[in-house]
Amino acid sequence: MDLLEHEGKRLFARHGIAVPRGGLWPDPPGDLGPCVVKAQVRVGGRGKRGGIRFASSAVETRAAAEGLLGSALGDAAVGRIYVEERLDIARELYLAVMIDRDACCHTLLASPEGGVEVQAVAPERVLRLPVDPVMGLRPFMVRRIVRFLGAPEKAAKALGATAQALYELAVREDATLAEINPLALTADGRVVAADAKVSLDDRAAYRHPDWSAFEQADPGTEVERAILRAGGVAAEVDPEGDVVGVISGAGLMMATLDVMVAHGIRVRCVIDMGGTPLGSSEGLIPIFQAAAAMRPRVTFINAYFHTALADSFARGVLGAAETAPLSGRLILRLVGRRSEEGRRLLAPLGFATHEDLMAAIRAVAEAARETA
Ligand code: GDP
Ligand code: MN
Repeated sequence: MDLLEHEGKRLFARHGIAVPRGGLWPDPPGDLGPCVVKAQVRVGGRGKRGGIRFASSAVETRAAAEGLLGSALGDAAVGRIYVEERLDIARELYLAVMIDRDACCHTLLASPEGGVEVQAVAPERVLRLPVDPVMGLRPFMVRRIVRFLGAPEKAAKALGATAQALYELAVREDATLAEINPLALTADGRVVAADAKVSLDDRAAYRHPDWSAFEQADPGTEVERAILRAGGVAAEVDPEGDVVGVISGAGLMMATLDVMVAHGIRVRCVIDMGGTPLGSSEGLIPIFQAAAAMRPRVTFINAYFHTALADSFARGVLGAAETAPLSGRLILRLVGRRSEEGRRLLAPLGFATHEDLMAAIRAVAEAARETA
């Protein structure tokens, strides 16, 4: 889960990292004075895209906020505005903690060149410090970071404390990324997080009940949401597509999509049934309903079971299709234990059945052509 800036800053504040005073529009603190009006979207580079505006009065703040609300930044619609005190920034630094999957530990990144994308900074200007999880972030490492950042003496203590706090935050909050860019050194010697980018590890949500307060990112399309509620996962691919794929497993779903696309098939949507076929046919009904509602020319069921029995899946399909008939030409590829029996059961429903994936894909391509 990627947090919005203002949510990330709330987390920062909780862990003792200094953030500018601010609040969500239309209720920011009234005494901010000159301020920054910031679009709350998950795309980066808001500054360059016009999503960060400076205002010197209440009138300017209102104009900036109302101008940004509802506008588009990249692919994202601006639904929320954060207003905060404007910092008098003397220097912009970069500081982040992320999980390095190769090194299997947290890694601290620091650069004296903040405010720009870290990928654009010369490698020798970025310090990468892996942190041994048993040892933690030790004071000598913090001193090394502070030295590398070349901060003035009076900011050194606050800078070290910020690095320490960011590391603790990443560990305690199960963040896969906690980034401050820029970390501002203000003219009066403060160290303040001017921006916040935090990604949380969804798999750790069970131990963070407070995460439910964060705004869900991109809830997906109507079909995707319906399939999620039904216990599967869907990806709508092409609104003009001809084929809906109903598939067993996320990996096979992506592979099937790739192969179909490689065969020139225009795919409307692919659906991973998740665990639904392993229960009764009841579980499949909402999935079939969502698949049929897209009115594809071809519905392609591609199922490969290692442990579940293919014929019991076929019985589930028979039952579900009675209540929720599938749309268009029906093609089935079914592999696994007792799949022969499964294919035989489904043939009367009008399925062209296959065991071989490529044969099934060719049949899908042909059916899409014939019905076009
Ligand atoms: P991003 O472009 O999405 O990363 O948004 P940021 O929050 O990082 O803002 C972009 C840039 O705006 C920063 O790098 C700063 O240069 C500038 N900026 C943001 N907040 C302030 C502020 O309070 N005072 C000043 N002077 N500049 C700011
Ligand atoms: Mn930034």
